[in-house]
Amino acid sequence: MNSLNGIGMTSQRTRDRLISRLEEEGIRDSRVLDVIRNTPRHLFMDEAMASRAYEDTALPIGHGQTISQPYIVARMTEAILQSAIPSKVLEIGTGSGYQTAILSQLVDQVYSVERIEHLLNQSRQRLMKLNMRNVHLKLADGYAGWRQHAPYDAIIVTAAPSTIPNDLIQQLAYGGQMVVPVGETHHQKLLLITREEDGVSEQELELVSFVPMIKGQHSGRTI
Ligand code: SAH
Repeated sequence: MNSLNGIGMTSQRTRDRLISRLEEEGIRDSRVLDVIRNTPRHLFMDEAMASRAYEDTALPIGHGQTISQPYIVARMTEAILQSAIPSKVLEIGTGSGYQTAILSQLVDQVYSVERIEHLLNQSRQRLMKLNMRNVHLKLADGYAGWRQHAPYDAIIVTAAPSTIPNDLIQQLAYGGQMVVPVGETHHQKLLLITREEDGVSEQELELVSFVPMIKGQHSGRTI
């Protein structure tokens, strides 16, 4: 149990320091802050990296990918909780599974799609170990979303496409919201898109730096 709630790996004080930092950076939603405080981020990365798990920084997870910075995870999660708590959420880019784990504690059902099999398998094991049963994972190209379970009340895209993928808008419920970093590698605008009956409205949240969203499923086992 100790390793699951993270005490032993890091002191509660280290975790609290991360939460203070997120508050200083403008995160206000106490539901999001509480979930981040209680989620063992060090379990979502290699042991070699785990001593840095409660720093507010993105860290490598292999395959040229990163676990998102806690501030960004908090910001994106806060954005989709703002108007109402979404019941069904789609995430594109499972990666380490950390953002998935945060969402699973705040909404009813989480669907998450990843294109790299090894990352998806690792995430599946971690989420099972934490007993997060409302999470559904799929190996696929996220540009196509996950049609079978659409429409979603919210969609979180954690890799950056150069334009907003149309299939994802189509899978958003009317009134639903999508938070997505749009632009070129490491220079994107984080957008909050709301689907309306007659189109979409767009709000720019801030400038961000995500890994690119890549077309097609990954094959091969190189790290
Ligand atoms: N939410 C993750 C962020 C991981 S980085 C976390 O908290 O750890 C972004 C992830 O998006 C990478 O794992 C990458 O493989 C994945 N990705 C990139 N393009 C994709 C696509 N077209 N479909 C699905 N996943 C994609």
